[in-house]
Amino acid sequence: MLSTSSLKSSISYTLARMVLVSSCLFGVVVSLIFLIFNFYKMENTFRDIQTEIVDISRGSASYAAWTLDRQFADQVAGSVMSHPYVDYFELKDEVGNVLARRQSSTVNSSYLSGWVAHQFDHSKLLVNETLSMPFEDDPRVGVLIVRLSANTAAQEIISSSLSIMLFGILQSFVIACIFLWISIKKITRPIRMYANFIDHVDPNNPASVRLGPKPYQRNNEIGRVIHKTNALLDELSKAQQKLKHFACTDTLTLLPNRNAIVSALDDEIINAESNLHLVGVLFLDLDRFKNINDSLGHDFGDKLLIEVAERLSGCLDRHSYIGRLGGDEFLIVLGGIRQKSEINAKLQLIENTFKKEFYVSGRLLNTGCSIGVSVFPQDGHDSSVLMRCADLAMYETKSSPFFWRFYSTEMTDMIDAKMKTESALHAALANNNFILYYQPKMTALTDKVIGCEALIRWKKGPDAISAADFIDIAEESGMIVELGYWVIEEACQQLSKWQIANVAIPISINVSAKQLQEVNFVQRSADIFEKYHIKPCLIEYEITETVMMDNLDGMILVLTQLRDLGIKISIDDFGTGYSSLAYLTRLPVDALKLDREFVSGAQQSKTVIKMILSMAQSLNLVTVAEGVETQEQQEWLIDHRCDYLQGYFFSKPVCVEEFEKRFLKAAPNNITYLHRMKN
Ligand code: C2E
Ligand code: CA
Ligand code: CA
Repeated sequence: MLSTSSLKSSISYTLARMVLVSSCLFGVVVSLIFLIFNFYKMENTFRDIQTEIVDISRGSASYAAWTLDRQFADQVAGSVMSHPYVDYFELKDEVGNVLARRQSSTVNSSYLSGWVAHQFDHSKLLVNETLSMPFEDDPRVGVLIVRLSANTAAQEIISSSLSIMLFGILQSFVIACIFLWISIKKITRPIRMYANFIDHVDPNNPASVRLGPKPYQRNNEIGRVIHKTNALLDELSKAQQKLKHFACTDTLTLLPNRNAIVSALDDEIINAESNLHLVGVLFLDLDRFKNINDSLGHDFGDKLLIEVAERLSGCLDRHSYIGRLGGDEFLIVLGGIRQKSEINAKLQLIENTFKKEFYVSGRLLNTGCSIGVSVFPQDGHDSSVLMRCADLAMYETKSSPFFWRFYSTEMTDMIDAKMKTESALHAALANNNFILYYQPKMTALTDKVIGCEALIRWKKGPDAISAADFIDIAEESGMIVELGYWVIEEACQQLSKWQIANVAIPISINVSAKQLQEVNFVQRSADIFEKYHIKPCLIEYEITETVMMDNLDGMILVLTQLRDLGIKISIDDFGTGYSSLAYLTRLPVDALKLDREFVSGAQQSKTVIKMILSMAQSLNLVTVAEGVETQEQQEWLIDHRCDYLQGYFFSKPVCVEEFEKRFLKAAPNNITYLHRMKN
């Protein structure tokens, strides 16, 4: 049922009111027309009434006039005056004497009827009839005067017009009511039902409700609106489904994306809670993917990711899910697990698939991955905690020789410690708590200082903490970039001081992978050399072998730019990586630094050193052996023609004052270091 207020605001009510008002107006207009029509018709009626009265009364009036019978004349007057339209009667004899005269009393008429009566042509109301007797010589016997009442006629017309008008209004009212009823039933109610239906449409699932048109509506406008709305909701639903699919899918690998896999993990946790199962959460990250991307291009990287996704999907059963978190990170959720050994079995399966080479764009590629594993419920009760634990474990796997590692609470402690060190390092840089130590490099044969390596130390109270204890953390956090510029600047400042003192001793500076990846690294290096007016040939950058091999083409470009500045490049920790001779010939470098491990190593290492030394000689590269601790080592290296030596046997890294005191007096003031260049 409609309430009064909603009825009044309904379309049906408005329509019904319009019908009522317009038909009332129409009724008034029709009544006016009728009034005018009747007015003109009335004049004819007057003539007919006059003829009728004269016809009826002529005989008796003539007789009364001929006999001069006043009594009879009075009777005639009475009968004529009884006619409703007659308001005046007069009968005269032939000489003009009045035999009878009557006038009806004037009726009180309304303004309207008075006005209408006034409009009549009054001459037409009066009958002046000469009376005669047929048998007389002179037939004229008298005159009959009868006047019709204009007021009566006017009232007659008005009352009939009024009744037409009233009837019209009544009829309009009834029609309006019927119209209202029908239109409420056929228009307002369906529209309200339609509005209710729209209210109940579930925005998340628009096609879940349908509106069926009544049979009579099927072909009308409302039926069409309903039909179109249903079609629209279907379309909307389809579009929403597509959107949902896109929102949950990783467009590259078509695996579930981060949101979708996290919600799968949430579901699996709920399942496992009620079934008392375990859930294995595997955080997987490809090894050296960035290098693959950089060296072989993003298209290649994308194809590799697709291939990896396919292989990983092949390792899963119906209780396990995989999703891509972004970049080269995947998350695998192992559900329905009863024992931890089942997780191990799955991990073994994944490891085996990675042992096979990947075939991408016609290229065979060996790609490893590191997996961190956390387990519900022992490591956490919600997805975010479990993912964080698995991520930490993955992080630890990266720096371990293993393919996977399970999360342990010690990992969190280690990360906490790392994070503390990281912020302490930032503070140390801001408070100028770093210092450079210098370790001399000696000529193998003459035992003279030929250069030095700058090694950073962290001043903590009276201690100088070794680089080995914090450089990895600085590297991981990216702080090494900032710290690296500090080292270059500090070393250059030292060089300029020595230059002023007319001492030209080269400094080797360790440069890390992150520094080399800096877009402006070459330019900023050049700016620093210029700022301190130092000769770039007095600078050597030491870059570890593994860094060089990671992205060979990119590295060749940067190293060429650096050498164009005039500085020297050496490969640090040489022998620990797997550089082939082919790589080495392509790299624009000046020197090789034999890793400490070989120098102090057993007979097998000696064979490696011999090979490296002869290879360097054939490539015309300078060789430096680091970590020389004994005279025996020194002699052996001299015997095998290593150019320069560095190690505790000569000196530990020392502060600049001690270095100057101990070594600079003996330092050359012309540069002889690195004289043997590549041809
Ligand atoms: P590295 O470049 O291989 O530097 C040589 C390391 O071996 C130094 O450790 C040095 O003190 C140590 N060493 C030198 N001779 C001997 C020896 O005869 N026996 C033994 N057992 N050790 C010797 P340090 O200063 O702790 O540096 C460790 C590593 O940290 C360096 O290895 C280098 O890779 C890195 N590092 C040091 N300073 C910097 C720096 O300013 N920037 C960057 N990026 N890395 C640096
Ligand atoms: Ca070094
Ligand atoms: Ca080294």
